[in-house]
Amino acid sequence: MNKIDARNPRTGALDYQFTATSADEVSAIAARLALGQASWAADLDSRLAALEAWAVSMETHREELFAAVTADTGRRSVSALEVDGMVRRIRYWIEQAPALLAPPPEARSGNAANVGYLLQGVPVGLVGVISPWNFPLTLSLVDAIPALAAGCAVLLKPSEITSRFAPVLQKTIDAVPELAAVFHVVVGAGETGGAVVDNVDMLCFTGSVGTGRKVAVRCAENFIPTCLELGGKDPAIVLADADLDIAADAILRSAAGSNGQACMSLERVFVHASVCDSFVAKICERAQALQFNGPDIHSGQLPPYIFGLQADKVAAQLQDALDKGAVMHCGGMPEDVGGGAWQRPTVLTNISTDMLLMHEETFGPLIPILPFDSDEQAVAMANDSQFGLSGSVFGNEDHAITVASQLQVGAVGINDASMTALIHDVEKQSFKHSGMGPSRMGDQGLLRFLKTRAIMIQRDKPATMAVFDESLM
Ligand code: NAD
Repeated sequence: MNKIDARNPRTGALDYQFTATSADEVSAIAARLALGQASWAADLDSRLAALEAWAVSMETHREELFAAVTADTGRRSVSALEVDGMVRRIRYWIEQAPALLAPPPEARSGNAANVGYLLQGVPVGLVGVISPWNFPLTLSLVDAIPALAAGCAVLLKPSEITSRFAPVLQKTIDAVPELAAVFHVVVGAGETGGAVVDNVDMLCFTGSVGTGRKVAVRCAENFIPTCLELGGKDPAIVLADADLDIAADAILRSAAGSNGQACMSLERVFVHASVCDSFVAKICERAQALQFNGPDIHSGQLPPYIFGLQADKVAAQLQDALDKGAVMHCGGMPEDVGGGAWQRPTVLTNISTDMLLMHEETFGPLIPILPFDSDEQAVAMANDSQFGLSGSVFGNEDHAITVASQLQVGAVGINDASMTALIHDVEKQSFKHSGMGPSRMGDQGLLRFLKTRAIMIQRDKPATMAVFDESLM
């Protein structure tokens, strides 16, 4: 039996142990879910009723779920948002599903007048969801809920770093037998994840570029469609006509909220040279006013690192930048606040593009600031990245939209940051190495779980072997 220990982010203690689901168990669970999927897909009304019962079950177990996610992440208010946000997300898809899944009213004609056709959306079957540790409940359910609403079964594997919430989530599912027949949570690390990939009809993966690449190769070998939501190195551009107070507030919140452990954290900040010194002063003033929320979880604003090794990675990036000449205005190396690893937002200038923090994802509260002289230069610097997740532009709205339209990213916030993670109905895709596949937001969030089947109806005499029917071409 493969036992896995998980660390408590607030104390650093290894205080949770669980047994990973074996590959054989994953296969058996997948077979059971696949069997249940046909009747789940057959009746939309019953399916939506079961999803509503699940929302109620989540509400019934809210405190337990909230406590588990809080223990997993060391964060309190974000955990409440995760639980309540996912209950809202279930109801959002219950509301959207009927119109999105409505069959076309009648057969249409295509290029051949004598051939009618019907298009049917067929659920892909069993969807695997593999999620990371930074927003463990949200990133486990953001794909699972629309997949279920579309008529698919779901096999979910959360990160081994944050698995405390898994049995509680399973309890909310088991309270609704129709749902339990098509939705199950397995736990473990890469080996369990690999078994998930080998047993599903489609995979939704959220995680790092490195693991995403391995998973994509395996999905390709299995000929299954894959949605990849990967890392980011999001740029912020502060134009000369920006409101610097708004920009400083939003960039700090994005870069240091959740301790920078978000895929769409702003990790590179480009500021017009005419306002750069003033911006650095404003963001440092705000950063220095923030307090750790440890050891008392009810105090302060700055949470710990969820994953201990992440602190070492960020420390190495910071040291590399300092060795190469960066100037640190506030913040510093990770600290131990009576256990766990914590870090103050760290503002750096005198940045050069050979520093690791300009290329590798940081996933910590480092804020490198670089001056620019022209829009063209800002856009070129922002686009100089293997990532293309999202970004922000601050300035006069028309000017900011013109600049935003030149960024090689899938979503841009104007005069704010990280909005696109929260707004359900706005479609976006990831550019470059930040991901692959249709949008997980908006209508595509559900429609991507359907394959299209065309029923073609010949209403004339079919062509004979001897006669080539030109009207079909
Ligand atoms: P990770 O890639 O290490 O792990 C992600 C998941 O993959 C975990 O559940 C892990 O157990 C599993 N896994 C590991 N090896 C596997 C394998 N060989 N086969 C199948 N599954 C395997 O990522 P992480 O460190 O947990 O998360 C942080 C990363 O996630 C960051 O890069 C972050 O940017 C990214 N992320 C992206 C988004 C997005 O929407 N684009 C959102 C949040 C996080």
